Amino acid sequence: MSPLPLLSSLPFILFLLLSAIPLVEKELRADPLWTPQSAIMKGSPLSEYLPVSKESLLSLLRQCTICVGGERNLDVRMHGIAMSCTGECTQCGAKFNWKSSRMLPTKNESNKEKLFKINPDFVTGAVLTSVGGRKLHQVLFQSGMSTFSTPTFHRLKKHYVIPAIEEYFYRSQAILIDEINERVSKGEKINLSGDGQFDSRGYCGAWCRYFILCADTGRALHYILMHKNETGGSSMKMEVAALERGLNELSYMIGGTEAIESIVTDRHGAVTTMMQKKFPGIKHYFDPWHFFCNITLALITGQHTFDKDPTFKQFKACTYSAPTNPAIYIPKGGRIVKRLEDMVFTAKNTEDIKSVSWLLHTSPCESINALATRYASKEYYFSRSGHEHRTKTTIVHWNFLKESIMNGSIPVVVRKRMVESPHTTEKKRQNAKREQRKLWEKLTRPVVPAEGDPNLDDEWSEEEEEEDDGVLPPLLSPQLQLCQLADQN
Ligand SMILES: [Zn+2]
Repeated sequence: MSPLPLLSSLPFILFLLLSAIPLVEKELRADPLWTPQSAIMKGSPLSEYLPVSKESLLSLLRQCTICVGGERNLDVRMHGIAMSCTGECTQCGAKFNWKSSRMLPTKNESNKEKLFKINPDFVTGAVLTSVGGRKLHQVLFQSGMSTFSTPTFHRLKKHYVIPAIEEYFYRSQAILIDEINERVSKGEKINLSGDGQFDSRGYCGAWCRYFILCADTGRALHYILMHKNETGGSSMKMEVAALERGLNELSYMIGGTEAIESIVTDRHGAVTTMMQKKFPGIKHYFDPWHFFCNITLALITGQHTFDKDPTFKQFKACTYSAPTNPAIYIPKGGRIVKRLEDMVFTAKNTEDIKSVSWLLHTSPCESINALATRYASKEYYFSRSGHEHRTKTTIVHWNFLKESIMNGSIPVVVRKRMVESPHTTEKKRQNAKREQRKLWEKLTRPVVPAEGDPNLDDEWSEEEEEEDDGVLPPLLSPQLQLCQLADQN
């Protein structure tokens, strides 16, 4: 056969070939710098993890992405709540390897030590919300999610989460101490406040947690955890011993007790004695709120019962209600005023009031103790290490709140239009305020849920409340309804 007809038809064949090349490739040849439009995604959620049903995930993984219509054999493995999957296409033989979360590098990397990021993330969430491993397991299990085994949860908590809390705590404590040392080097002195709390309600606690705060900034500087075995089994002695150890350790960090001007605590006889003996250079003040609260309590309790007085036979208690005009009942210079004065101006009160602080309070200490109770609930018993990391978490959280307050809230910018009805302006102002409050609550509210937290009630909105302002008729009993009908007729 002559090659001529073929040769003559060559341009035509070339044309056919060229027209068969997809448009993209043609453009690529014309402009080597051309790239396809980058893929965009709309509505991507902000959260890092998404719950996905096994069915929908496996149907995606089963399809081969190399050939058309190929299906893979899958080998699925669980690692905590993470999942890894290897596979091979039954049609084209392409191999496949997939992980549900990225891996974190570990110091001792081996086949056994696989750290999928999702695992420590979930354990951290459970630790920082004081939900704990058991409740997390229950929630995941009951929702039909894969869950951790108890040893895995505790291994992750012990090896990764608690060391991270400790590192962060000591690093931020060092920064605070550096700041104080700088102030002290300039000749300044610091004021402290301190208060302790027992791990169970009442006075039979096994542990005492004592916080020492900087009274000037409200930030927590140090804490002491004391077990009652350390004070010979007496829980009453724990608070005094904890304060003593705390002051010793803190003054060691800031180069001596000379840097401490004063400390305010609640009025506790044993604390006063210890402070005078061990720290005579530090001025010891009493919290004013506690001082006046005690005096008020002494005035109102037991004043209206006479059951101990044998001269009263018929009446055992005062039957009068509180007087509306006290001046009528308490004449000036009378016997009653004298009695009240005797109760207020006792030798102890007149001596102690000299030590009542007018500027410093222990109330921040009580607040931080309340926060600590959220992390270490009084309903449970914790070991020393359990209390240690919970207390450190409390301090990190507390100091973060203090610093946020010092820095001021985050401003929300509201864009205004030129023409706007007063109603719209007011609505927008309210919305902006609400958004700001929501944001502020998100930032400052403890993540540990407690009853009465407004942030637990996300569905609640003022809008709905405002709509429903119609007055409902009172509910009447059938009897009353009959009477009303009779009146009308
Ligand atoms: Zn394939």
